Amino acid sequence: MKGLLPRAGAFGEGEPGGKPMLAKTAADTMTENAIAVGPIILLGAPGAGKGTQAKQIAERYGIPQISTGDILRGNVARGTEFGKRAKLDMNSGKLVSDDLVNSMVAERLSQPDCQRGFILDGFPRTVAQAQWLDQELAARGFGQSGLPVVVINVAVSYNQLLQRLTGRRTCPVDGKIYNIYFQPPKQEGNCDLCGAELVQRKDDKEEVISERLKSYERETLPLVEYYHRQGSLRQVNGELPVEQVTAGVFRLIEDPAGREKQ
Ligand code: AMP
Repeated sequence: MKGLLPRAGAFGEGEPGGKPMLAKTAADTMTENAIAVGPIILLGAPGAGKGTQAKQIAERYGIPQISTGDILRGNVARGTEFGKRAKLDMNSGKLVSDDLVNSMVAERLSQPDCQRGFILDGFPRTVAQAQWLDQELAARGFGQSGLPVVVINVAVSYNQLLQRLTGRRTCPVDGKIYNIYFQPPKQEGNCDLCGAELVQRKDDKEEVISERLKSYERETLPLVEYYHRQGSLRQVNGELPVEQVTAGVFRLIEDPAGREKQ
């Protein structure tokens, strides 16, 4: 599978992922937390670490993480109409229909906690979703005339993704994510924080993973070019240690001028 790797030189000069954050005072941190950051879109393959980065961003800036995967899994677990319609596609690694996901996102963006900004994690995933989102964000006053839209591509190679996905285990109680190869729990199979038995997501089984990566390459990878053409795309090297990826992501969010550079 070609095309999952960023083009040569994409992590070159100006790439923020590897540089250390400057030391900050408490006052600096409070000021930053008060920033109205606007919409942040995290792009990247399944397993690239979007969810991990989204949690860090949410905590630092006090804006909500909107993960369409999490919302869909919640709907499946509760047996809602949305959940019933999405379940089959999700379990086989296919994308759920644009209409269903778009209406879920529209509903979520209407909630008052999204006014200062929000993180979209796993949405958009098709060009049709991105076009819909452009209109939706403009209608909500984001983009050209309001707070800018920041798109961050978390780039990870294919082999690394495979290991991350097959090794991923999650605590069903507190959501903490482990990896049996890179970040194992202290006691095999149990959460370090609460001791609960770790679970593997149904769609992290090997037979489903290859379908998910195929649908990523076919449907979602074109979004890198889509946002690049809009001038809103930035990239971090998702293979760096997680704290360095986070530092790079924060820097992109806090440097509006840098957002325009490619
Ligand atoms: P994720 O947790 O982001 O990997 O999403 C899990 C599954 O939910 C995906 O494999 C899709 O079946 C479905 N899904 C999540 N987000 C979207 C989206 N934006 N468009 C279509 N399907 C989605």
